[in-house]
Amino acid sequence: MEVTESTYGKTRIFDVEKIRNDFPILSREVNGKPLVYLDNAATTQKPYSVIETISHYYKFNNANIHRGLHFLSEVATEEYEKARLKVKEFINALSASEIIFVRGTTEGINLVAESLSRKNHFEEGDEVIISHMEHHSNIIPWQLLRDEKGIVLKVIPINDKGELILEEFEKLITPKTKFVSVVHVSNTLGTVNPVKEIVDIAHKYDIPVLLDGAQATAHLKIDVQDLGCDFYAFSGHKMFGPTGIGVLYGKAELLEEMPPYQGGGEMIREVSFEKTTYNDIPHKFEAGTPNIVGGIGLGAAIDYLRSFNFTEIHRYEQELLKYGTKLLSDIEGLKIIGKAENKNAVISFVIDGVHPYDIGTIIDTDGIAIRTGHHCTQPLIERFGLTATARASFAMYNKKEEIDKLAESLIRTIKMFK
Ligand code: PLP
Repeated sequence: MEVTESTYGKTRIFDVEKIRNDFPILSREVNGKPLVYLDNAATTQKPYSVIETISHYYKFNNANIHRGLHFLSEVATEEYEKARLKVKEFINALSASEIIFVRGTTEGINLVAESLSRKNHFEEGDEVIISHMEHHSNIIPWQLLRDEKGIVLKVIPINDKGELILEEFEKLITPKTKFVSVVHVSNTLGTVNPVKEIVDIAHKYDIPVLLDGAQATAHLKIDVQDLGCDFYAFSGHKMFGPTGIGVLYGKAELLEEMPPYQGGGEMIREVSFEKTTYNDIPHKFEAGTPNIVGGIGLGAAIDYLRSFNFTEIHRYEQELLKYGTKLLSDIEGLKIIGKAENKNAVISFVIDGVHPYDIGTIIDTDGIAIRTGHHCTQPLIERFGLTATARASFAMYNKKEEIDKLAESLIRTIKMFK
């Protein structure tokens, strides 16, 4: 089935109250107060349509896919492959064979590192460039390769506002640079990186680029052909979909040359004890029974996101960011970490004399969920001379009134510590 714009019907008017009604969890109470959920960079909440798609699948269509001839197996296979087509359309990939279902961003990056290593893409002394604002999931896979293959990891520096220093990137490139892997949007600072420029620079030297899109897909319209990247990894649970499912996009010509990541059922064409031939992409990279319902649930999340105009989502979230930045900046003793010009709706902050863990614990008693800690970006947090921050991260269902509550609760916290 070809997924077209008309599959999604009319674009919905952006109305935050109506959007909130789509998310059952948003009407619950926490500690006797209405939930204020501001931890969307960690994971987003799920709309009815996703929850019901998952429940419907298990109630009516559950079967294993690709290998059964019976009715249910065919229905389940069709639903799963339809979801792949939806992903393809969502990020504007050239073909559905470029969409590999994985567990999440983490697995997507590990797949690329591991498969390229197996292909002997890297020799001892070869270089991989990442940035100072990477999530651990875009650091450790390359460190594992460093230990295994002796590659060298190079890091693009950032300025005090939390922006990549692009001029320094090109200076890091040498004839030994074999791969570039950078985050599209920082989960800790909200910085939106100039990834198109990064891809263009790397491609001048024929270096492939992976983009970590974990924090981008629920907030920005993604067009992998326009970005020109070779790989793009993201997680379903950060874009209103289920946990345990994500996507690795890769250009077909690269994926075809790459050896499998894991071995098992589904990824083969023929097996004998002497020799095995592998399936076509993307199945070559999907060993074993996949997360079928996860894929279908992600398809429902994409339908949900596509029922809105992305420009509207972005405009609204920018409004929240501006409002929150002003309100929080006015609180005495509060300092915002990460002031990039191009930023998504994430506000990391510290407060004089109050540990981020105490902030998180106290405002939780007001029903407010934020994240505290290093956010799996320890080198980045250290770059700012810190060990932790508190982080409020917004999604399209958040409201200015919730930011007011956050500010009030922070002021109450500060008073307690005085
Ligand atoms: N990259 C970034 C920027 C993230 O924010 C996260 C999760 O917080 C990840 C990668 C890892 O995503 P997952 O745990 O879904 O694999």
